[in-house]
Amino acid sequence: MPTHDNNLSIPSASRRSFLGLSAAASAAVALRIVTEPMLAEAQRVQPHSFPKDAVRIDANENPLGPCSAARDALTAIIPEGGRYSFNLTNELVASLAEVVELKQEQVRVYPGSSVPLHHAVAAFTSSQRSYVTGDPGYEAGMAAAGTVGARVVKVPLTKNYAHDVRAMLAAAPDAGLFYVCSPNNPTGTLTSHSDIEYLIENKPKDSVVMVDEAYIHFCDAPSAVDLVKAGKDVIVLRTFSKVYGMAGLRCGAAFARPDLLEKLETHAGWNAMPTTALVAAAASLKDTQLVPERKRINTAVRSQVFAWLDRNGYSYIASESNFFMLDTRQPAKAAIAAMAKQNVFIGRIWPSMPTYSRITIGTAVEMEQFQTAWQKVMTGAVTAAVTTTVGEMPNPRRRNLDGIAFPA
Ligand code: PLP
Repeated sequence: MPTHDNNLSIPSASRRSFLGLSAAASAAVALRIVTEPMLAEAQRVQPHSFPKDAVRIDANENPLGPCSAARDALTAIIPEGGRYSFNLTNELVASLAEVVELKQEQVRVYPGSSVPLHHAVAAFTSSQRSYVTGDPGYEAGMAAAGTVGARVVKVPLTKNYAHDVRAMLAAAPDAGLFYVCSPNNPTGTLTSHSDIEYLIENKPKDSVVMVDEAYIHFCDAPSAVDLVKAGKDVIVLRTFSKVYGMAGLRCGAAFARPDLLEKLETHAGWNAMPTTALVAAAASLKDTQLVPERKRINTAVRSQVFAWLDRNGYSYIASESNFFMLDTRQPAKAAIAAMAKQNVFIGRIWPSMPTYSRITIGTAVEMEQFQTAWQKVMTGAVTAAVTTTVGEMPNPRRRNLDGIAFPA
């Protein structure tokens, strides 16, 4: 059953009138960006710091970091750090447009794809137009919907963990934005191109479909970029945080019709990009071996982990990405804490799957450490007592998430 939630933080009318702001402008004041590192941090056993040599596989980061061409570009740009260098933005837009075969006016770059994700939710949802997403799914858009007072409609994934596009359509005739993440965070599973097309063809008038392709490079699935090219009501998101290993450098992109890209700036205008992100991203795109090589490495390590899990009788959801959901056979929070005792940091938990934890694929060596530690947790050799509710979203130590409610 889809679930609905209106109990999300919205700016109060009195605060709005005191500030003399329009509804749209006050929503801009309220829009706070929630990201994967904030969500990962919120559930950590020991927040803000990792012990030396920790295995960090809890936030879908890429242990390989930026490629060597990107590192060289970063070093070379340091003396220019005092300049805004807008030309570098234009150059990256041109390179990206060439790679995905779109026109430059269909491409916009941002400091991470979290920015266009939030701006799209603010632009296309409202108290009259709901936000529709899969469950379990990436929570950032739900938080953004809350800040603009939009109803959040969470529709369970199908039994194969794809977005149930027909149920999404049925659940929200008032939809403003449908969010489809493929591969999906946290299950790593795909939604077919034909289902995305069906969603676009059957959605309510004036609504938009946003396809988040943060992890698309790790799988063989076709992109939805062709639907942008065809002029559909679709926004495709990409990021340099995952396969390109640039999460800390902050670079992402949105692909859409120019009129839709304009709307993303309804609540907050576009701002200058960090030049470090621009040059590292541009250098990464020039390295034509980067994506196939990193995809090959991730697939090889993931297959090795899955084979080990199979041999040992542990169950998991077969993912096509650089992370997967692992059955903890106990409250996942206890398993995460027992792993942390062994310096292996896994996570996160989703409320609809309280006995599963998401595991990011690290290096081959890190995943061997993961396996050794996991065996000890599952045989009861290492245990940890946990006192708080399993699967809860809030954490007293969470940073920047206060006042943002997540629908259960
Ligand atoms: N979309 C999904 C599904 C993610 O998992 C993430 C980060 O983990 C993002 C978007 C945002 O990434 P960034 O803002 O680093 O580009």
